[in-house]
Amino acid sequence: MKTGDLSAALKAFQGAIGADNVFATDLDRVAYSDHYSPDENKHMPGAAVAPGTVEGVQAVVRLANEHKVPLWPISRGKNFGYGGAAPVLKGSVVLDLTRMKKIELDPDNGTVLVEPGVGFFDLYDHLQKNRIPLWLSVPGNSWGSVAGNALDRGVGYTPYGDHSAQICGLEVVLPTGALVRTGMGAMKDSPNWQLYRNGFGPGWDQMFCQSNFGIVTKLGLWLMPEPEALLGYDFEFDKPEDLGWAVDTLAPLRREGVIRQAPSMGNWLRSAAVMTTRNQWTQAKGPLGEDVVTAIRKRFNIGWWSVQVRTYGHLDIAEASLKVIAKAFGGKPVLAMKPVRWVRGDAPEGSPFSGVPVSFPLANANWHGGRGGHIGYSPVLPAKGDLAMEQFRHTYALYQKYGMDYHASFAFGERSLTNVNQLLFDRDNPDMMGRVDAMFRELVSDARGRRYGEYRTHIEYMDLVASTYDFENGALRRLNQAVKDALDPNGIVAPGKSGIWPAGRRGDLK
Ligand code: ADP
Repeated sequence: MKTGDLSAALKAFQGAIGADNVFATDLDRVAYSDHYSPDENKHMPGAAVAPGTVEGVQAVVRLANEHKVPLWPISRGKNFGYGGAAPVLKGSVVLDLTRMKKIELDPDNGTVLVEPGVGFFDLYDHLQKNRIPLWLSVPGNSWGSVAGNALDRGVGYTPYGDHSAQICGLEVVLPTGALVRTGMGAMKDSPNWQLYRNGFGPGWDQMFCQSNFGIVTKLGLWLMPEPEALLGYDFEFDKPEDLGWAVDTLAPLRREGVIRQAPSMGNWLRSAAVMTTRNQWTQAKGPLGEDVVTAIRKRFNIGWWSVQVRTYGHLDIAEASLKVIAKAFGGKPVLAMKPVRWVRGDAPEGSPFSGVPVSFPLANANWHGGRGGHIGYSPVLPAKGDLAMEQFRHTYALYQKYGMDYHASFAFGERSLTNVNQLLFDRDNPDMMGRVDAMFRELVSDARGRRYGEYRTHIEYMDLVASTYDFENGALRRLNQAVKDALDPNGIVAPGKSGIWPAGRRGDLK
């Protein structure tokens, strides 16, 4: 499939949404490129357009069809580690929805309808200013958008931390320019759009997550009523092997719903990489030695692994849950178990555990110095201690083999673990960058050997990860592409997203 004439399309976009909202200088392209990419040129956008209304989005989409120019929709495009604002297909026009910033809150029902440009900080400020007792669930780096994060299946720290699971009703511009509302929103003026997920017939909300089937212009989301209490324990564990029994202790509590948020058990580098830089600890190359690990643990007073577990709700219920958790750890070789307590009326808790957005964890990109960045490889595995240990041993060995600093965590889903392996790097270090790609690919093939797939990935690896979903020789990809062809005959929305290519571009498959 040949891409149409970009400059003719840009002129048409200018006519539709104003020249001020079309960005096509070299500087503009770089601004919308992937700032964490090993090679930003490979995914350099052709231009960017920023309509401010749904009608503007529809106009851009219709013109893109006419001119056969691919679009890459983003909300705020702060998806660092996964591609930022940049498209899979080089030369695509970024459809930047940052200007659409409407917030419609329903405080009584604990729901919100947001436009894509609403950031976590915007929504947090709105709740604070209007003294609305609802808590957000924010990701560790909270500078992105509420909608984009949910659509890409981002996660947070409260019981509402599975963000795509909180979606209730979408408004979507389809690839032809038609406008649709999902769930109860399919009925004009329904009061239930954000209250009841399914409506009538097939449910489509999840079809627009991690897909390229449409451009979401409004997203409904459930928010957590402020609880009376937020209690918990900060656990520290002394040895790498403690991962196994700790997983077997926490997993049943998560499954039963005693723990309703997703605790994340991570190693010593998590704190060090955010608070310090590597050269403060050592000048030595290669994986960090035991002496450095010991020094880091001492400075931050942490274990080999740390996990923060929280319970929420009415004080009586949160306390009862906490007791069950303490009992489950009774007699086990925990290094430290520090109680944490916030009750309504106390000074604000102030962290993502109470839905407060933060951006300081971005500092970990500076671990090596230079123009820093990171990429994550995050396969999903069963919540079983022996399998977690096996996964840990394999990945740890790969960090050693490639001379990278081990930075990983295991996050507890209700039935699964997500093993987030973070590769921190310095883009100005060609030797290191040469190792990152090879290591990423080996992490994928190693996990694939145990039949584990990744839940979300960087634009560079979408085809690779999609190819690991191999039942019936890729039946799911064929289904996705059949839907793509039906909805997007000109293949203009986000070609290549999640390994889904439109007809005519499947030869681009690597
Ligand atoms: P954030 O604003 O949180 O940084 P992004 O805007 O980077 O998130 O979105 C993450 C990914 O989700 C994008 O790369 C894109 O593939 C998809 N996405 C984001 N917003 C939309 C949207 N409004 N419609 C369709 N897909 C979207």
